[in-house]
Amino acid sequence: MPDTNFDKLHLWHPYTSATNPLPVFEVERADGVWITLKDGRRLIDGMSSWWCAIHGYNNPVLNAAVEEQLHKMSHIMFGGLTHAPAIELGKLLLEICPPSMDKIFYADSGSVAVEVAMKMAVQYWYGKGLPGKQNFVTIRGGYHGDTWDAMSVCDPVTGMHSLFGDALPKRFFLPRPSSKFGQPFDTADLKPLEDCLACHAGEIAALILEPVVQGAGGMYFYNPDYLKGAAALCKKHGVLLIFDEIATGFGRTGKLFAWEWSGTEPDIMCIGKSLTGGYMTFSAVLCTKEVAGTVSDNPPYAFMHGPTFMGNPLACAVAAASTELLLSKDWQGRVEAIEKDMERLLAPAAGFDNVAEVRVLGAIGVIETKRPVDMARLQQRFVEEGIWVRPFGKLVYIMPPFMAICREELEQLCSSLVKIVKEDIE
Ligand SMILES: *Cc1c(COP(=O)(O)O)cnc(C)c1O
Repeated sequence: MPDTNFDKLHLWHPYTSATNPLPVFEVERADGVWITLKDGRRLIDGMSSWWCAIHGYNNPVLNAAVEEQLHKMSHIMFGGLTHAPAIELGKLLLEICPPSMDKIFYADSGSVAVEVAMKMAVQYWYGKGLPGKQNFVTIRGGYHGDTWDAMSVCDPVTGMHSLFGDALPKRFFLPRPSSKFGQPFDTADLKPLEDCLACHAGEIAALILEPVVQGAGGMYFYNPDYLKGAAALCKKHGVLLIFDEIATGFGRTGKLFAWEWSGTEPDIMCIGKSLTGGYMTFSAVLCTKEVAGTVSDNPPYAFMHGPTFMGNPLACAVAAASTELLLSKDWQGRVEAIEKDMERLLAPAAGFDNVAEVRVLGAIGVIETKRPVDMARLQQRFVEEGIWVRPFGKLVYIMPPFMAICREELEQLCSSLVKIVKEDIE
């Protein structure tokens, strides 16, 4: 018999206390958009398990891909060996990623992909004979993961930089663009970047951004023209551009990848999260011929990274199946329909006293409150109402499994959400 008391006593959960944890709910299984709790209650999933499970849970096509691969090999080292799942996935990714992407590095998780991208940028400049270009510039409100270097480019406040103090490398932080998505672009948004690069380009390897949608750092949607301007400034000052598409990739924003909103191509790009359809941890870093060539054709003539589980066959197989499944369907039509429905269904919340803003982009719906919400109480209420939503700070947001959710389920998810946010006024 599983023992939830053991969980409480011994298991750490994300961003919680080990001695006084928030309550957890035991999940028995999950199918499509439905999460079944141990006590029999069923919840509509509004989180896609943090952006990942785009096809929903227990998907027969993805299950089959894992099973088929499992009977061949679940893992084999990638040093000196290769396999069909890695090759097939690579072909698929090159078809759908920015045309200038040419080389693919498979990594273990989103955070590791960010580490790999940052190392690649530093090694690129080392290869160019400019080893002083080791630092990074980014905008506030970003989130790039929890490992050391990824954390160093997260928003300094929400990324808890003061807590880790001098141990964390000091990066250049600029204001996030004030021009919101769907509003006119104010070129003044680029001024801080221009000033920073004019002074510090000699020490900066790359600018790292989440294109268009900042995820866990604030669920903020900004004008895609910022990317175009930023790319031009990077080119002018000799700084690489890294796009972290770990959250935005695979259709979530209404484009397959968010760079497409402005047609701006990065030098290095990170993908993860929904890459495997939420089946397991996996990520990839893609880069241009120029970046890979400079890293590889200069001492030490190799890219100095190689995780144990690099190119894991199970992960590659399910990632290829998930990507094929997505592309075989009208994912864009689905995301557009969900966007329209969420705009309509979440709109009433904009009038609540405790709500600052309601915004929707693609299959992402955000209700930003004026004061931080009581997470434990809200979580309890969501479960009572039969939905699974996990807010943080002032952000109550949903990003449902867009390839699995039907209209009635989306309506139930949104109406329950709005109802509970309304209660929060008292
Ligand atoms: C989640 C996320 C990461 C980190 O990915 P993990 O798999 O949790 O390590 C990095 N960047 C962005 C934009 C993310 O949303």
